[in-house]
Amino acid sequence: MSWRSCNRKHDNPCVPGSDAMPRLSAALREYVRRRARGCCEYCRIQERFYRTPFQPDHIIAEAHGGAAIRDNLCWACFHCNLHKGTNLAGIDPKTGKKAWLYHPRRMKWSRHFRWDGPILVGQTPEGRTTVAVLKINDDDYLRTRAALIAEGVLPPS
Ligand SMILES: [Zn+2]
Repeated sequence: MSWRSCNRKHDNPCVPGSDAMPRLSAALREYVRRRARGCCEYCRIQERFYRTPFQPDHIIAEAHGGAAIRDNLCWACFHCNLHKGTNLAGIDPKTGKKAWLYHPRRMKWSRHFRWDGPILVGQTPEGRTTVAVLKINDDDYLRTRAALIAEGVLPPS
């Protein structure tokens, strides 16, 4: 299966929170995209391989007082943004205890995650919880990443 033939069902433009989100200036949006080098800051998929445009994500959702400022924004794929919603934390599947989600501005990605083929492995409570809450290893996404690996473009450098 080619990535471009992947029949993902992520075309719904209705993202939770998007209507309530104040529009970011084009300059701020572009800054966030460039800072992330066009990659989702959670699952690291590159925007050029994803047919739905990426979005700026409020790391701390507005519902929890998060501001639309550089330090509270990251670039996220539709899948991660959709599943993250306004969540700040979840349950670590390894310990059953509450854990915060990965914070792209305050935490180092490589400390919390590693690749095992197409599977993103959480290495810390925050990493495991983020993988679980954002459903980063759901079947659909695993197939997509396997196709990208077969094409030689994942994991990203
Ligand atoms: Zn993602």
